[in-house]
Amino acid sequence: MRVLFFLFTFALSIKSWGVDSKCEAWFKNGKIDRKSKKCVLKCSVLQVDMDTFACPLECEKLCDDPCKESERFWKNKLKDGRPNLWPNTTEKSKQWSEKEKELVTKALSKMPKVLKFELVELYRMDKSKDFPNPSSHGSHYITLYDSAFDSGNDLLRILFHELAHELYGTFSQEDIKSYYISAMWSQERKEREPSTMRSDSTFVRSDGRTSPEEDFANNMEFYLFNPVQLKKHWSPVFEWIKKVYSGKLTLECK
Ligand SMILES: [Zn+2]
Repeated sequence: MRVLFFLFTFALSIKSWGVDSKCEAWFKNGKIDRKSKKCVLKCSVLQVDMDTFACPLECEKLCDDPCKESERFWKNKLKDGRPNLWPNTTEKSKQWSEKEKELVTKALSKMPKVLKFELVELYRMDKSKDFPNPSSHGSHYITLYDSAFDSGNDLLRILFHELAHELYGTFSQEDIKSYYISAMWSQERKEREPSTMRSDSTFVRSDGRTSPEEDFANNMEFYLFNPVQLKKHWSPVFEWIKKVYSGKLTLECK
């Protein structure tokens, strides 16, 4: 009983020491912009005294750095195991290495807001059934394979492509209709797959012909990473993306 009472008063006194409020005041005196991208760095070198010597450890909490926030957001999306009902049964899940987690969250934190989806989860698997395919997407899941981390591959570009698939999944019927017009897709009857009259040479990547969604993900990827190529292959889609996502596809946290 006595011990419990002691612990209780000890806990209360910690609260009354107000470590957090002292750090808040210390941070406020430093006059750092809470939302600045350099906030954590500037905070960590603020002068301290006997009362505030531990405050630099609180800098991440005190700052509202959008890039750090974004990294935390995406880090929570990296999952172990297999996605529910993953159709590719031959693909085996594997553990993320710490380095991979860091690389993936860093790349994801650069994504424009329009590609920041609450529902998305990312999984790590060994080898695609379509090797050397580096990644796959399916109903809110993104899977990264070993080849995504090969030196010749651009992780940022790979992830951007997969998130473009997710974006396509949010399209309304109106959005789909509008995209179909610019990319020359059509679907005569509901029970039939969409088709296109475009020639092979108008696709930035040949697998775009397999579906409007794959075509869309490829085109979004090229819009950002190879705009000249996209314009050359099929300029109406370039213009459509420019009009619909005007100013919304810029990478963040460079
Ligand atoms: Zn794709």
